[in-house]
Amino acid sequence: MNILFASTIEPAERWLPLLKAVLPEDRFYTEADGKADIALVASPPPGTLEQLEGARLIQSLWMGVEKLIEDPALPRNVPLARLADPGMVAAMSETVLAHTLDWHRRLYRYRAQQREARWHRFRQYMASDHTVGLLGLGELGTDAARKLRFLGFNVCGWSRRPKDLEGVDASTDLSYVLAKSDVVVCLLPLTPQTEGILNSENLLKIRKGGALINVARGGHVVRDELIAVLDSGHLAHAYLDVFETEPLPADDPLWRHPGVTITPHAAALTEPRTAVHKIAANIECIRRGTLPPNLVDFSAGY
Ligand code: NAP
Repeated sequence: MNILFASTIEPAERWLPLLKAVLPEDRFYTEADGKADIALVASPPPGTLEQLEGARLIQSLWMGVEKLIEDPALPRNVPLARLADPGMVAAMSETVLAHTLDWHRRLYRYRAQQREARWHRFRQYMASDHTVGLLGLGELGTDAARKLRFLGFNVCGWSRRPKDLEGVDASTDLSYVLAKSDVVVCLLPLTPQTEGILNSENLLKIRKGGALINVARGGHVVRDELIAVLDSGHLAHAYLDVFETEPLPADDPLWRHPGVTITPHAAALTEPRTAVHKIAANIECIRRGTLPPNLVDFSAGY
């Protein structure tokens, strides 16, 4: 099959040798020519999507697909698959655990104290004293839930459809989940239903002294309302990986807010070494005439 690799961000020189090793019979190339059977895309060069009308599968190299979905050039008749990459899933859970533990062990406060050479020990809590609420119980939320439970945290979670996950208090009622949570982790796709969901009304439902971890998309957070909730002391800290404008502009007040930890959209990157096996499995589905899992549901928006 003709497999187009089209990305302005993912490096072809890193991906292509790994892809060729798992799909030795197929032809890989990087300039769209209207003849691709399969297109592997992540922020593709302008003009690429227009040439994919005849493709049998568009495979995203990322888990978030909102930019592709909102692009009018995306052919709606071609199946679009998200990438459920085990390496990325593992990385995201590591980030969620790291930030949860940073708040739970009060490391963010010890860092602030160190800047003033201050020696003061805070009260210790057990993991079972705290509840982590996951907004989104999909590929990422499910793995993070399992690992948080392993550490002893209480875990609750919010999804669109009811879920039955062992040891997780799963609900479709957002207010219920927020009110139980000390730490809220946003792992939702960005859709018209979830945009701006982290507003002051919802943030104030999180338990006092708690934390927000946003590792989904910047559009989930209403920035000025988050800053007001932090300034009020209701939330102790916010860990933000994603922003409406990226890179985050140098004059954005979030950079210098003492209650904010910023990372540069680095919570979880696609890991080509593990991703190519998922991509190969999806392409084998197409070769057999079946549809791969993790297809985007255009009506749900993710
Ligand atoms: P996923 O498997 O599609 O799961 C999404 C979850 O959100 C599902 O549980 C879904 O509910 C829930 N959801 C969607 N819309 C909802 C709504 N309106 N109300 C309640 N729940 C809703 O997605 P994923 O692979 O876990 O990835 C989640 C997001 O993480 C991606 O879309 C991407 O934006 C972000 N991400 C960020 C990074 C980073 O580095 N910062 C890396 C990777 C991904 P159902 O289970 O009922 O469908």
